[in-house]
Amino acid sequence: MTLRRTFPMSALALALAAPAGLAQSPVAPATTALRCGAMIDVDAGRRLGPHTVVVAGDRIAEVRAGHDPVDGARVVDLSGHTCMPGLMDMHVHITSETSRDAYSEGFRLNPPDYAFRSVVYAERTLLAGFTTVRHLGDDGVVSVSLREAIAQGLVRGPRIFSSGKSIATTGGHADPTNGWARRIMGDPGPQEGVINSPGEARKSVRQRYKESADLIKITATGGVLSFAKNGQNPQFTVEEIRAIVDTARDYGMKVAAHAHGDDGARRAVLAGVDSIEHGTYLSNDTMRLMREKGTWYVPTISAGVFVGEMAIEPGYYPEIVRPKALAVGPLIQKTFGRAWKAGVRIAFGTDAGVFPHGRNAREFELMVGAGMPPMAAIQSATRNAAELLGESATLGSITVGKLADVVAVDGDPLEDVTRLGSMAFVMKNGVIYKSP
Ligand SMILES: [Zn+2]
Repeated sequence: MTLRRTFPMSALALALAAPAGLAQSPVAPATTALRCGAMIDVDAGRRLGPHTVVVAGDRIAEVRAGHDPVDGARVVDLSGHTCMPGLMDMHVHITSETSRDAYSEGFRLNPPDYAFRSVVYAERTLLAGFTTVRHLGDDGVVSVSLREAIAQGLVRGPRIFSSGKSIATTGGHADPTNGWARRIMGDPGPQEGVINSPGEARKSVRQRYKESADLIKITATGGVLSFAKNGQNPQFTVEEIRAIVDTARDYGMKVAAHAHGDDGARRAVLAGVDSIEHGTYLSNDTMRLMREKGTWYVPTISAGVFVGEMAIEPGYYPEIVRPKALAVGPLIQKTFGRAWKAGVRIAFGTDAGVFPHGRNAREFELMVGAGMPPMAAIQSATRNAAELLGESATLGSITVGKLADVVAVDGDPLEDVTRLGSMAFVMKNGVIYKSP
């Protein structure tokens, strides 16, 4: 736990004490006043002048203009900083991280190995200002346990909404035995998240519900990093995706669809999924359809850029992966630029884990580089993300009554969006994890 050693003790004590319900702890005053030099109102799309955000317990109690004193409150001076709602990344893999050994580790490591690593990744993500993440795919065990450990205050990390195991078809992206030798390949089924009919699709969704997933993720097309030739072919029928979406609705779960190729993405949109992830080869027609149906686009440009960079390095990825990574890498940013112009609803997502955790904010630079104004990029990572999650009542803006997730950067991130890459202040659920 070397990360903890660099952390101020008072803040650490707070972080540990408050979520465990020790509100009487002398270092945790009931009320905190954040004196913000400026504040981003993501609902109005405006940067406001000096404001005070009053936090009581885990909620935002009051938001007032100016810096008048608040009776009995602990004061945090952020007068040189811009406050904004906690950032939300709608596509991460919080239990794993890219490395040269990642493919062989799948055969050598046990779930606890991933669990211990995930503790480090979670803390790094939170300290980068991301107070909420949507985790889209692991073995379905580690991410759920991590989610609970964070919620109980045992581990420092973002609030997690987990899909558990992604649902795939045989040989498809996220078939867990893809590329294995025949003698160990077996024939995974709905229990393991592999389906080949609408009936199996329904069982697989119910299995994820049983395993305590918050939402469903499907891999509607081939993928870049799986051990397979094709990175964009459609891998589900429309009927199978419909069965998944209908069953997910019965259990109050949303559906996220990984898709690179246009055909598979279009099938997923027609079948009613809530979001398209990556969307590399999305046609203008499919974008129009997404706009009509209100389907969200979660671009993950960062992952595209990273795999494109690493594919040049010999031996980093298996040979079967390299050509796919080289093709997809440079494309996603352009696709994103088209989607933004076409008026598709956009929620911020990076695919962190495909690149090192904690660098999630690079996505803002890439979004702005493709023509999105900085304010819209921040909105995509706050109010839009909350809407995609169905959590607008509690998350996504600095509003009285919502959970107190507030972050701050030095200066004005609308003038220089790279400032979002060095977070100065992080509060989640009213607990301070980082302070200038
Ligand atoms: Zn992913």
